[in-house]
Amino acid sequence: MVVVMQSEASEEQIQTVIDRLVSLGFDIHRSTGASHTVLGAVGVRPDFDAREFELLAGVREVVRITQPYKLASRAFQPAGTIVEFANGVRIGGPEVVVAAGPCAVESQEQIGAIAAEVAKNGARMLRGGAFKPRTSPYSFQGLGEQGLRWLREAAEKNGLLAVSEIMDASQMTMMLPYVDMLQVGARNMQNYHLLRVLGAAGKPVLLKRGMSATLEELLLSAEYIMSSGNHKVILCERGIRTFETSTRNTLDIAAIPVIKKLSHLPILADPSHGTGRRDKVPPMTLAAVAAGADGLLLEVHNDPEKALSDGAQSLFFEQFEKLMVQLRALAPVVGRRVA
Ligand code: PEP
Ligand code: MN
Repeated sequence: MVVVMQSEASEEQIQTVIDRLVSLGFDIHRSTGASHTVLGAVGVRPDFDAREFELLAGVREVVRITQPYKLASRAFQPAGTIVEFANGVRIGGPEVVVAAGPCAVESQEQIGAIAAEVAKNGARMLRGGAFKPRTSPYSFQGLGEQGLRWLREAAEKNGLLAVSEIMDASQMTMMLPYVDMLQVGARNMQNYHLLRVLGAAGKPVLLKRGMSATLEELLLSAEYIMSSGNHKVILCERGIRTFETSTRNTLDIAAIPVIKKLSHLPILADPSHGTGRRDKVPPMTLAAVAAGADGLLLEVHNDPEKALSDGAQSLFFEQFEKLMVQLRALAPVVGRRVA
């Protein structure tokens, strides 16, 4: 951290700042210029509050140099993390991994039909919610464990991995046999108790960005899971809330290269929740891959118009098939490939 003092700061004020920094364990490098005194504070204090120093008399500016997260940072691990799954799928490597499926598992027939279709077109993972975080308590809430059973069955039948959302820490033990990856939804990104429990999952966690979360907050949430013992964390940009109303959320494509610089963790893009409209999903999918996404989370349905949740953003089979063809053509341009 660097503390820039005001030009009129007194020697006493400067000393007060130095004493505070020293008491927190920082080493101080003082440089006195013609107009300002600058204090360079070196030390490992990831949790200090820079505002405490901004409020001290005589301080002009406080600039944080180090990041508040450690295990998730690129500085800690320069090489990108590759998360490996049982069937040889690797997220974070050259392959752009596609996870596709319905918003929610609705029936054995529905998930079976969708699994066969997405597998045929190159998806590697089957998504499908069994516990749905719906805005209204009167909306379809998911089929629970029965949904997971059908998800697993459809995934296995088609050589796919299974991913589903965990809403509460109490569901983990029950869910683990059914899924290859546990998804933490946007609404739970800052459920720190759940994140800590996932530290013991022993399986990869797909951590979605909260709808009003900064990237620093997303990485601090990843840090919760990692510091609790699970380093297999995959991030997901799923759109944030902005003032724009043309799309359900604003898919923050720039988040992808920003995360790539700050962190070694892989990142997926979810253009389905990121736009909320199926006609916007293909262009944003291509944009996300061009921007460096390691994979995609796509909602696909056999009958989107009758879907019990998120039908408007679910792709028809023909749309998914066409999109996969386009992805296969685009990926090599950015040094990637698609199955
Ligand atoms: C989902 O992927 O099913 C979902 C609910 O997404 P989000 O948490 O991003 O809203
Ligand atoms: Mn959905």
